[in-house]
Amino acid sequence: MQSTAWLSLGANIGDPQAQLAEAILALDMHPRVSVTARSSVIITKPWGKTDQPDFANMAIAVSTDLKPLELLDVCLGVELAMGRIRKEVWGPRLIDIDIIAYERVEIVSDRLTLPHKFAHDRSFVLDPLREIAPDVADWIVTLKR
Ligand code: ADP
Ligand code: MG
Repeated sequence: MQSTAWLSLGANIGDPQAQLAEAILALDMHPRVSVTARSSVIITKPWGKTDQPDFANMAIAVSTDLKPLELLDVCLGVELAMGRIRKEVWGPRLIDIDIIAYERVEIVSDRLTLPHKFAHDRSFVLDPLREIAPDVADWIVTLKR
């Protein structure tokens, strides 16, 4: 059965726009993931840790038969393949791929929180999401977790 999930992509070192495009291509190449919608790219000031370059952020929708944790592993695999090294929380990154939401699933676990823990108060997540799935953005805001 196919489910729809919405992903947030972000990058702020290297060539951010090129890395967003590369991540979308890599996700779409996965045999069990199809990219079905993409927002525009927005340029935003860094959040949390402010002494670093601006970010390019966007949201995409994917259709997949993967379960949420399997989809997370695919996202982390693409990050790894693209050379992301985790050094510091909220620090500069070549590419960050987060699951904003997976259908209307609600999960709180060590590895995965859905909808994404901070989505409801991050406009760099909500604004692009609103372009492609306004109903999902509204749902996340009204959950107010
Ligand atoms: P952040 O995205 O907050 O800057 P990371 O990309 O380094 O931080 O993610 C750290 C961990 O967050 C991941 O290894 C993953 O297990 C966890 N995580 C929890 N919920 C989610 C989610 N909805 N999407 C992506 N990662 C998540
Ligand atoms: Mg992440």
